[in-house]
Formats: sequence, C-alpha cells, structure tokens
Amino acid sequence: MYKKTLHQLIDLINKKEITGREIHKSVLDRIDLKDKDINAYTTVFREYEEYGKDGILKGIPIAIKDNMHIKGKRTTCSSKILENFVPEFNATVIEELEKESASFMGKTNMDEFAMGSSTETSYFGVTKNPWDTTKIPGGSSGGSAAAVACGEAIAALGSDTGGSIRQPAALCGVVGMKPTYGRVSRYGLVAFASSLDQIGPITKDVEDAAILMNIISKKDEKDSTSVNIKREDFTQYLNQNIKGMKIGVYDKVLKDCSEGVAKSMENSMDILKNLGCKLENVDLPSVQYCVSDYYIIAPAEASSNLSRYDGVKYGFRADGYDDLMDMYIKTRTEGFGDEVKRRIMLGTYVLSSGYYDAYYLKAQKLRSLLKKDFNSAFAKYDCIISPTTPTEAFGIGEKAGNPLQMYLSDIFTIPANLTSIPAISIPNGISNNGLPTGLQIMANAFREDNIFKCASAFEKEFNIIDKLPMN
Ligand code: GLN
Repeated sequence: MYKKTLHQLIDLINKKEITGREIHKSVLDRIDLKDKDINAYTTVFREYEEYGKDGILKGIPIAIKDNMHIKGKRTTCSSKILENFVPEFNATVIEELEKESASFMGKTNMDEFAMGSSTETSYFGVTKNPWDTTKIPGGSSGGSAAAVACGEAIAALGSDTGGSIRQPAALCGVVGMKPTYGRVSRYGLVAFASSLDQIGPITKDVEDAAILMNIISKKDEKDSTSVNIKREDFTQYLNQNIKGMKIGVYDKVLKDCSEGVAKSMENSMDILKNLGCKLENVDLPSVQYCVSDYYIIAPAEASSNLSRYDGVKYGFRADGYDDLMDMYIKTRTEGFGDEVKRRIMLGTYVLSSGYYDAYYLKAQKLRSLLKKDFNSAFAKYDCIISPTTPTEAFGIGEKAGNPLQMYLSDIFTIPANLTSIPAISIPNGISNNGLPTGLQIMANAFREDNIFKCASAFEKEFNIIDKLPMN
C-alpha cells in the first residue's frame, strides 16, 4: 500500500477495498523497517487518528514538515530550542487537511528552522537519501522528500523559502511544488523569512500535488499576506494537450551543472519539443545576483523572526544563569545550532543602521529588478524551465564545512521565491551514478494552471515512479 500514490489510494478507498487505518498501518510498518536508517521523522504518530471519512482524503495519513503546527503535537523545527514545544493550535493548512479527512503520519525532519539545503543542520541528525544513504536528501524539507521517495509517507507537506521543497524533491526523485506567494496561508508555519516562505506539497506524482494544492490553497483571514483569489480545481489542468505552449529555457548556467543534470535537461527539452511546445532560450540578467540577494534578505528577516526565542516565551531555557541578559545569552547560545547563529549574525549586520542602505535596501532594489526580468519573460512565455539543482545529491558531510558551496545549490530555485512566482520540480532523469535529477517549471504569479499543464504532460511521457527506492 505504501508504494501507491494518494489518488490511487483514494480510488481504492472509494471502492471499499482498503481503509485509512490500514494505510496508516502499512506506512507505519514501513517506517519501523526503514527509519532507523533514513531518519526522515522527528516524531511518528503511532496511533491512527481520524478526522472524518467523507472528505477527499478519506483518512489517508499525510506527513508534515516539523515547522507546521499540529495542535497537541510537538513542533521542533529540528532545533534544540523547540525540542519540547507543543503548540495549542493548528496551522491553517492542517485545519484544511482535517476538513478533507486527512490523518497525519508524523512530523518530518528538516534543517534547523529550515535553514539549509541538506537536512544536515537538524538537531536530530541528518536524514539520508533513500537512493543512496551516503548522500544527503536535500533540504530543508529533506525528511518529507525522503519519506515520500521510499514509502515512509504517501504524500507530505514541506515549506519553501529559497528552494526547500523543490531541491529535496529533485534530489529524492519526487514532485515538489512551491505555490505563488500568498496562495497558501502561512498561519501556524514557524516563520523563517516571512516575505519568501510558502507551504506546498511533496508527492509521488503531479496529480497528487494538484489534489493537495486544491485543499491547502485558500484565503485566510489569519494571514495578512494571504491573497483573495478564486479557488480553482487544479486537477482540471492534468492530461492536457500542450501543443503550442511557449517555454523559455533558462540554460545560462547549464555549463556549470553536472554532466548528469545537463543530460537530463537536454532530454527534457526534447520531450517538450516532441509534445509540440515552442522552446526558446531566455535571458534573465539579474538571476546571476539572486543567491547574494537571497542571503541578505532571508537572514535579515530570519534575525527578526528568531528574536522571539528568548527562553521566556517558548521552549528551552538554559540552566545556571546570573541575570536576565545572561539567561538570554545562554539560552540562545545553547539552543541554536551554528547555521542558525550564522544567519542571525548576517541578518543583524545587514539591518544595522550603518549598513542598512548598503545591503538591505540594495537587496530590495535588486528584488524589483529580478521581478522586472521575469515579468518581461512571462509576457512571452507560458513557462520557464531550468534544472532544479546544479548537481545530483552530494555526499553527507561534503559541503557541511563550506556554507558558500551549500548556498550555491539553490541557485535555480531562489528566483521564484524572490519574485513570488510558483514553481514545481518534477523528476526528469536518473544519472549514471544512480541518483535522480529534477526539472523545474516556473510560471507567472497565480498561473499554477500552466505549471500543472506542462508538468502533467511531461510526466506522461517521462517519469521514474516505478524506480523509486521502495524495496
Ligand atoms: N537552502 C536555502 C537556505 O538555506 C533555502 C531554505 C528554504 O527554502 N527553507 O536558506
């Protein structure tokens, strides 16, 4: 059962051949077999909990990244500082899933506070890539992606600030989508960089992504940045003819990609041409600055968001302090890991009065330029494609000591966050080293329809779902 997609299981339940409870048991057995090795979960819900049976999800368990609140269950953000923090309320996405009779499988491992690209910064230890356990699964939603890839979850939610859904999805051979900023409520998602964060699905195929998107996309009064846009049924865009679709190819950096990634990309372009799409190279001049831009804006917002962990309001407090200031310092010193501290220092630096104009303001200006580049590109193209990542999954420990190298692995995914546009990663090949690669498809803001059309048509021609590491 754990090998099946969400839509296959929904069909089987509708035919009364299986139940949500049986699926939960099948996935739980799979977790018991695999998770000692893979470490995809921070918390597993061993008891099956049901929230009705009549909704679309029919009691099927979904895995949730451990930075979204499920009432009464701990939300750790894979950080020591929140190790024992139990929220009193549900995130809006959880409420929406419950309304459609989801159940939950557990909370998945991640980089601490979603800061990272490898899940190595987790306080609970690295998650391993089920395709090759000497490799990282990507990050920060590495637990969700690894779980879906090896049957430790039927489907999952992740969050994406600079690529954290799409990059691990690509490196684990599954589908991951970041919706348009504002499409999905962030209420109850622990904030990393509020102007970039967005929740989205990680699934085995595109149809499953559309099903979860249908459920979580909704205007929410509790999130002032959520947008009031008509709900659409994304499954209507599946299995369509995409002849004549205009696609811009961002291939500027292909020369810097690994051989396997470049090969998969070339093959993907052939597939899309055969489907009748019109492909053209697109130049996005500001994209070359996007990593630098992101590493000013994201840490700036993070340093502000993380100031609330002071040992008073939430979670962990250090022992043996002398006074209030000493308590703050000891709590944050012991409670946060190195990467989080690095981001806080970067962020407070670029926001400090002497440097604000030189760094933060300039970074915001660049963000506008980037937006302009994409706007003029989307005047010509329905979608823009690129590889999701420059390389296949790298070795555990390989980049851990080199933050800059690590940051560069998000070079293709970051622009979508900085410009608020939607983007998906779908599997587009398996390299000679046995590791999967991903194709990223971006579209203009609120044009997820184009993404689903393109991704679904592509997937019908090429997918690796039978090759997922399910044994
Ligand atoms: N890897 C990027 C970072 O470290 C993006 C993380 C994310 O999308 N949450 O910030």
